[in-house]
Amino acid sequence: MPQQGDEQPAPRTPPSPGASGPAARPARAGQHTGAGGAAGPQDAAAAQAPGGPGKAAAPAGGGHRPARAAAQRLRSLPAVHRLLAHPAVQQEAARPVAAAWATEAARQVLDEERRRRLEGGEPRTPEQLALATAARLRALARPSLRRVINATGVVLHTNLGRAPLAAEAVAAVADVAGAYSTLEYDPATGGRGSRLDHVRHLLRRVTGAEDALVVNNNAAAVFLVLAVLAAGREVIVSRGQLVEIGGSFRIPEILAASGARLVEVGTTNKTRLSDYEAAIGPETALLLRVHTSNYRIVGFTASVPLEDLVALGRRHGLPVVDDVGSGLLVPPAGDGARGLAAEPSVRGSLAAGADLVTFSGDKLLGGPQAGIVAGRADLVARLRRHPLMRALRCDKLVLAALEATLRLYLDPAGAFRRVPVLAMLSRSGDELARAARRLAARLRRALGDRARVVLAPGHSQAGGGSLPEVPWPTTLVGLEVPGIPVSALAAALRAGEPPVVARIQDDLLWFDPRTLLPGDDRLLVTAVTRAVDGLITAGAQGEAGPEP
Ligand SMILES: *Cc1c(COP(=O)(O)O)cnc(C)c1O
Repeated sequence: MPQQGDEQPAPRTPPSPGASGPAARPARAGQHTGAGGAAGPQDAAAAQAPGGPGKAAAPAGGGHRPARAAAQRLRSLPAVHRLLAHPAVQQEAARPVAAAWATEAARQVLDEERRRRLEGGEPRTPEQLALATAARLRALARPSLRRVINATGVVLHTNLGRAPLAAEAVAAVADVAGAYSTLEYDPATGGRGSRLDHVRHLLRRVTGAEDALVVNNNAAAVFLVLAVLAAGREVIVSRGQLVEIGGSFRIPEILAASGARLVEVGTTNKTRLSDYEAAIGPETALLLRVHTSNYRIVGFTASVPLEDLVALGRRHGLPVVDDVGSGLLVPPAGDGARGLAAEPSVRGSLAAGADLVTFSGDKLLGGPQAGIVAGRADLVARLRRHPLMRALRCDKLVLAALEATLRLYLDPAGAFRRVPVLAMLSRSGDELARAARRLAARLRRALGDRARVVLAPGHSQAGGGSLPEVPWPTTLVGLEVPGIPVSALAAALRAGEPPVVARIQDDLLWFDPRTLLPGDDRLLVTAVTRAVDGLITAGAQGEAGPEP
C-alpha cells in the first residue's frame, strides 16, 4: 500500500514511548505538506484579513453606513504621518531599504485598526499603533527568502530548501557570484567553453558513467530525456511506479507534457517481465523505471529487477532509463548511515546496465537544486544538442555549488563528514543523545523555572521523498511553558529571527538535534529565550500574543 503521497510525511512515531492516543498529531513539518490531508498553508490563511485576499486594504462596510458610534471611533484614528514620526518607527525606517516601506506599514496598521473599531473591538492607543507599525515595518523590510533553523529532524525538508550546502560549495558560489567567471570560457585557449564541462568529468568519475549533463532539477532531467528520446512514441512503465512526488511531479503528467505516450503495464502490486515484453511494439521508444522514492509497495508484490529489464531492452534494441530520484553517490559509511543502504545508488543502477540514470542534485547528493542525467555517451550527446537544453540549463551559481560538492565525493569517506546531508544522516544514536542532553542543559540554564525541558527517544526522517520506511533513531528535546499554549510558542519561534521550525506533539514543542547545523544550538537557545520572555510579558499585560 502506498503510505504517503507527499515528500514530508509527518513523523510516524510519537517522540515519547508513553505518548497516549492514536491521534499523534503531525509535527510542524507535516503540516506544511498535507500529510493526512489535514494541512495547508494555515499560517497564510490565518494571516489574511477576514474579508479574504485583496480586500484587506479596503475600508470595511463599503455597502452600508457605519453606525454613528463607530464613525465616532474612527475619527480618533491617528494620521499616517503621526505614526511615522514616532521614534520606534523612525528607528526602524533608518535601516537601509526600510524607509521605502514605512508609509505602507502605517497604512496597513491603520486599515486593520479601522476594521477592528468598526467591528466593535477595543481601540488601540496611538502608542500601541506606532509600535505595531514599527513591528510591521521590520517584517516588511526583511528579506523574504532567508535562513531558518530546522529543528524538525526532517533532513531533506523541501519547504525549508532541501539540502544545506557544504562549506566548500558555499565558498565556490561566493567566489563566482560577484565576479566574472569561466562559465563558458576556456582560459587555456581564450575561446568558448561549455558550462557543462565544469561538472562533466567529475560526474563521470563519481558515477562511473560514460557521460553526463546537468539541468535545473530532476523533473527537468526526466522531461528532457522523454522529450528527446520518446516524443510521439511510447514509453513503457509499470503501474506500480506511476509516482507523484511533491504534488507537482507526476510521472504520467511529465510523460504527457513531453509528448511521449504512456503505456502502463502490470498492476499496482505486481509487474512481471512478461508484462513489459507483451507491451513492446514498433512504437516503443524506451523502457522507464521509476524509483518509488516516497512510498513502498509491500505484501503480495512482484517487480522486475533492473538487470532483467536491461536484458529485455537489449534484446529489443530499446534504451532503459532509470529515474532513481535521490542521487546516492557513495556506499553508506558510518554507524548511523546504515539506513541509506535501502536507497538505490547511481553507480549501482549504471552497473546494472541502465542506459541513462536521472537524479536530483539536492536530495541525498547534498548539493544545489539540479537534475543530472548520466549514462551512455551517444544518448547524452543527443540530449545535449537538443534546443530544450537551452531552456533547462543551470546558472553559474548552481554549477559552482555542484562542482564543489562533487569534488568532495572524490574522497568518499570525507564526503560523509563534509556534505551536510550525509553528515546528518550518519550521526549515531549516541552522538544525537549527547547533543540532545547538551541542548536541554542550555535551555534549562537559560529558562530556569519558566519552562519544563524534557528528553525523549524519537525518530528523524530523511525527507525529500527518500527512504520513507527507514526510521532514523534520535533523541528529542521537548519544551513546555506553563500557561502558554504550545501553538503560541511555536508561532513565536516561527516569527523570530531567524525563525525556528520545530515539531508539535502531545502539547510540547520538540527539537531534533539531527538537523541543527553547527552554531544553531546557540541561536536556538537565544530564540527560545526571547520567545518565552515575550510570551510571558505579553501574557502578564493581557495581550493576545506578539505582533505578527
Ligand atoms: C524527487 C524525485 C523527482 C523530482 O526531482 P526534483 O529534483 O525535485 O525535480 C523525480 N523522480 C524521482 C524518483 C524522485 O525521487
